[in-house]
Order: sequence, then structure tokens, then C-alpha cells
Amino acid sequence: MEQPGWKFEYSYQKLPSNLFEPAYPRKVKSPKGLIFNEQLASSINLDIDSLMSAAGIDSLSGNTLPKGAVPIAQAYAGHQFGNFTNLGDGRAILLGEHRVSDEKIVDVQLKGAGRTPYSRNGDGLAILGAVLKEYIFSEAMHALGIPTTRTLAVVGTGEYVQRQKLQPGAVMTRIASSHIRIGTFEFACRGDVSTLKELADYAIKRHYPELINIENPYIEFLKKMIDQQAYLVAQWMSVGFVHGVMNTDNISISGETIDYGPCAFIDEYDLRSTFSSIDRRGRYAYGNQSKIMYWNICRFAESLLPLLYPNDIDLSIQVAQDILRTFPNIYEAYWQQVFCKKIGFDSVTANAVQLVSELLEIMHDQRLDFTITFRQLARGTLNHPALQDWVKAWQLELLESNRDLTSTSKLMQVNNPVVIPRNHVVASVIEDVETSGDLKPFLDLLEIIKNPFSEEFSGHTLAFPRPDGVPQTVTYCGT
Ligand code: AMP
Ligand code: MG
Repeated sequence: MEQPGWKFEYSYQKLPSNLFEPAYPRKVKSPKGLIFNEQLASSINLDIDSLMSAAGIDSLSGNTLPKGAVPIAQAYAGHQFGNFTNLGDGRAILLGEHRVSDEKIVDVQLKGAGRTPYSRNGDGLAILGAVLKEYIFSEAMHALGIPTTRTLAVVGTGEYVQRQKLQPGAVMTRIASSHIRIGTFEFACRGDVSTLKELADYAIKRHYPELINIENPYIEFLKKMIDQQAYLVAQWMSVGFVHGVMNTDNISISGETIDYGPCAFIDEYDLRSTFSSIDRRGRYAYGNQSKIMYWNICRFAESLLPLLYPNDIDLSIQVAQDILRTFPNIYEAYWQQVFCKKIGFDSVTANAVQLVSELLEIMHDQRLDFTITFRQLARGTLNHPALQDWVKAWQLELLESNRDLTSTSKLMQVNNPVVIPRNHVVASVIEDVETSGDLKPFLDLLEIIKNPFSEEFSGHTLAFPRPDGVPQTVTYCGT
């Protein structure tokens, strides 16, 4: 049997043993390879033909273990909608870390591979619809240049899973820089300090190796997290992405977007947009995301306190608070950078920022489509009556700041996508797959979202607003 090229390592398993439990994937009835990410496979030195072979599919379904894999489920805790809970991988199994190069390892995780010691009352399974949604949204994020975990493959199990109704089951292979979450630290800080320290040293080595030999790496770790997560949320905001379930267990230490549940890209610009049936009070609404990330990082900082100044808790608290207070300004600076670029300014100026806020205010009042409005601006076709005065002021500002028209236009083209995975379209192709097994519309959509900035697809449904009368898709919990 040809091997796809896995080079497994198990560095996580060298950490204290309360951070994980051995867990084996369950056997599935009739594994069927549905989707394979050829581009991702080759970028991590895996042979796609071998992954797609019968033996490859067997291992991606969990029916056999790829050579060298030693599977575990990771322990973590988390604040879910503000409430602390002990969690852990309840339906995901880490096969190991795959070595891509001397500098790079990635986690290889099977999601939906059956129960683990952390499953509580859950069945450990994933449904095809949710897996396909994660596939398309994570690929869209990647194509938009936003840090994200990605999907290597989707295998149908040939079984049905009980949710609100019976749904086809699937196992998905997730590739991530790591699966260490803020929640992993919240779990570790409730045990002995030596475990917490080992976890922190491991996370630093894996994600911020430049900090290893400095005086107090934990303080710098906190600063890096603030920077990465502020950057990430600013990126989400710039494309209208609502994560939907920013619990601390769904925030990766690596700064990658992880856990695509009730997420969506907004249509009309509205800071209150939410797409989750359980987020009734809008905790995770589009416009709340930076505040929630700040709150989450405060939980992260709390968990690091014993490491900051081990003999002086008061000093640890004071220093952590001083560092945390920088979050809003760091976030604001990233936000201004991305939004100034969206209107053609490669550097942040007070006038450009003023123009951005005026534009967003009008867009909000007029309920304009976020993606389309910015792209029309980039094309020079923005002629909404309510925006005429604004466009004049904007043109004047560009003129007065001596911007070169060609590079301004180029800057706007690469910061304002034409197509985003609009929920009503994604939902409809996923329904096609679920009801008829027909993958073609899904695969076609996938090709389109891989080129979000290209004018080639400006005629596609994804480039148009949700038609009148089509309700916004809401994702129900329990997927
Ligand atoms: P999520 O909402 O996907 O972030 O999951 C929150 C927690 O619930 C995690 O610990 C998951 O592992 C667990 N979980 C979610 N769905 C299931 C399931 N079907 N079976 C077991 N555990 C689950
Ligand atoms: Mg999660």
C-alpha cells in the first residue's frame, strides 16, 4: 500500500498526561471519499492519489490508523456564553502532528470520529451538512488571506446521525497549526503550576519560538496573543465575517479562525447581525466581536497569572492589567488599517478614518450590502443616491492626498472581495448534497470562493444580495 507521506510526531503527548486521553476512532459502516483538498495536501507534502485510494479513505474515515498515528483527545475547558465549563475533544481525535518541514508541524485531527472520554452525553459524530459548511467557509477564509484551520478531506460514513432529524454522517480531517485553545490554558491553570508551565512553554515553542530565550516569555506571550487576536478580529470585520460562537474554547492560541459553527458573512451592514439560533442576546454579534475577544483574552491572561511573576501575584495582576489595557488601541489600529485600505488608502490618516465611519453610517442607515457596496466603490460603480455626497468627498480626499489612481484601484480590488460564501447559497447547495447526494453544485461553489477577488465571477449568485423574500439562514445548535 502506498503511503500518502505522513510523518507523524506526538510532541503533545509528551506533556503531562492530564492534558489528554488516549482515544480511538470508531469504525464506520461504508466510508466514501467525498471531497479532497488537493491544494492543501500538496502544501503539506502529502500525495493526493494515495489519500484518495481505498486505503487512504479508510484511514481518513478512522477505520484504520495511518501508519505512525497515536490518537488522543485533548482536554480543555472554556467559557461558553460567559459560563465556565470543563470540555475536551468530545467528537474529535488528534491523530498526531505531521511534520511538513524542519520548521513546521501541523495537527491532523479527525472530527466526527466517535466518542472520547470527553464526550459527556454526545455521540461524538459529525453530520455531513455541518462538515461541508466548515469546508467551504474555511477555504473562503484561506482564500481571503485570513488565518484559519483547513479541511483536508471529507469522508461520508454511510450512516445516519440523529439530530433534529436523521442526517447523513461524515468524518472530516482538520489541519491546524495546533488545537491549543484559550480553553486549554483555562483547564491547565486549574491544576498544578508545573503543568501550566509545560503547556505554556510548549505553546510558545510551537507558535512563538522567537520568545523562547527571552527574560519573561509569558509576558511576551500575552502581548503576542493580544496582537494576533486583535489582528484576526480586524480581518474578520473587514470581510463582514461573524464567527458566531466565540467561546474561549473556540479561540486558538495560534491566531487561526477555528470552529465554524453558526458563522456567516453579513449581507446588509448591521453591527447587530447574528446567525445563531442560541445567541438570542447577540453576545457574538458582528459588532461585538472585538469586545468579546478582549473578554476572552482577559480569561487567557488570568490563566497565565501564576507564571508571570511566580512569587508576586499582585505584581502579576498589575502587569497583566497594564498589558490587557492595550487591546482596544491595538485592535483599533488594525481595524483602521484594513478599512482605510478598503477605501483605497494604504496608510491610516484622520481624514480616511473619518470617511470610513461616514460611509459605514450611511451603509447602516440604508441597509446596504457590505460586500457589494465596497466592491462597487473599488470598481468605480458606486452610485447609490444616498452616497453621492460621500463619493465626492472621498474622491476629493484621494486627489488631495496625491494617490496614484492605478495603485489605489489595485489596493481596493485586493481588499474588497467580489464573492463571499453567502449563507443562503451555501445552505442550498448543501441541501442538494444531503438530499440527492449530488456534489457538483457544492464543488462548483468551492471553485468560485477560491478566487474571491476576481471579477470573473461577478455574475454569480454569490456576488449579488440575498433576494427579497429569502430569509437569512440561521444555524441551529446541535450540529
Ligand atoms: P462546539 O460547539 O463544536 O465548539 O463544541 C463544544 C463542546 O461540545 C466540545 O467539547 C465538543 O467536543 C463537544 N461536542 C459537540 N458536539 C458533540 C457531539 N456530537 N458529541 C460529543 N461531543 C460534542
Ligand atoms: Mg469547539
